[in-house]
Amino acid sequence: MAVEKPRRPGWVEPPGHYLKSREMYSLPGLVEYKPRARYLFSAGQAQSRFLRGLREGKILGTRCPRCGRVYVPPRMFCEYCHAPTTEWVELPGTGRVHTAVVSYIGTFRERREEPEIVGVIQLDAPGYVEGGYEFAGLFHRLCGVTPEDVMSGRAIGMRVRPRWRPPEERRGDVNDIECFEPIPEGEG
Ligand SMILES: [Zn+2]
Repeated sequence: MAVEKPRRPGWVEPPGHYLKSREMYSLPGLVEYKPRARYLFSAGQAQSRFLRGLREGKILGTRCPRCGRVYVPPRMFCEYCHAPTTEWVELPGTGRVHTAVVSYIGTFRERREEPEIVGVIQLDAPGYVEGGYEFAGLFHRLCGVTPEDVMSGRAIGMRVRPRWRPPEERRGDVNDIECFEPIPEGEG
């Protein structure tokens, strides 16, 4: 017997009847097809230059000439004052952990036995307005940061720097940075 689901007041039951997935897959005429859709993706002007920078071991951003905000990943215009961001800047790469999470899901949505720590790194860049949500930052892996660091809140605010892959392994993507790692005490 069907179980009555609680519905919001005013809910109008649509015509037809619910199917279990097994019932649905047994319907005559059902087509199962996996498209082989291959495509090229154009990174665009700003992103392309950013990616080429990574291959050279540089983190590049754009600066707004009007308010001074620095964008990483770079944008072609300032989201705050809509001015074109015409100036390119190279960032030192250091920063602090803005958010961190213990992830048991890998990049390809696979379940991981060992968790990976990922988070958003707020990069050191002049132009950040304290309390503003726009800052130069990257989402990346954090190595040398433990799940306990994350769950206790210690990870937040940690000073980190990029760990670059050797030049011959770089491909012009965000994985040219292997991860961000904590800066040892006294080094910055
Ligand atoms: Zn601006």
